[in-house]
Amino acid sequence: MALNLLMLGPPGAGKGTQAERFAQSRGIPKISTGDILREAVNTGTEIGLRAKAIMDRGELVHDEVMIGIVRERLERKDAAGGFVLDGFPRTVAQAAALDSIMTGRDPLIVIDIMVPEDELVRRLSSRMICKDCGHNAPMEHGAVCALCGGKLVQRADDTESVVLDRLKVYHGQSEPLVQYYRVRPTFRSINGAQSPDQVAADLAAAIAAACSHAAPSGVRP
Ligand SMILES: [Zn+2]
Repeated sequence: MALNLLMLGPPGAGKGTQAERFAQSRGIPKISTGDILREAVNTGTEIGLRAKAIMDRGELVHDEVMIGIVRERLERKDAAGGFVLDGFPRTVAQAAALDSIMTGRDPLIVIDIMVPEDELVRRLSSRMICKDCGHNAPMEHGAVCALCGGKLVQRADDTESVVLDRLKVYHGQSEPLVQYYRVRPTFRSINGAQSPDQVAADLAAAIAAACSHAAPSGVRP
């Protein structure tokens, strides 16, 4: 069975890191919409060029274009044996489109990484960025960049009120999405307020449990 994994979770939950780590451990691609958008633009595909035109006008890429880009990426050979999708879907309409893209493939395993709001605020408002090279580091790493020795400063977009706004936007978007997936036997939520190693262990266990409930190939759960 192909491991088709979809990861949900708020900013600051460590989702990108866990997605990367899991994808590497299984030898399957990690697919994030930011990456495929950049790649589609760079390789000059028709849909990539349309996306670029939209971004050049300073507008958000619409669902239709985004879905086309994800479809094209998921149909590539390296994703046939599984993938880890991070950052898509963001809306129920995109989730429904993803289901239609996935018709005839092994079911999606959906993992939601949960972290309490106060912990997210603490994590997000304590991130630092290097003034010289742009490297990100948590507060506890000290005042100097580990890469270049430059001065670390607080990220401009990470003051507490900005963080709270971002989380509010996230919850408004994600709650309907979680409702959409929650009813499936292949949905699991895990506790993200633990060490990265413990989260990785829980993630692997949740995926194994969800896989054992996954319907046979070609049948939607
Ligand atoms: Zn630096």
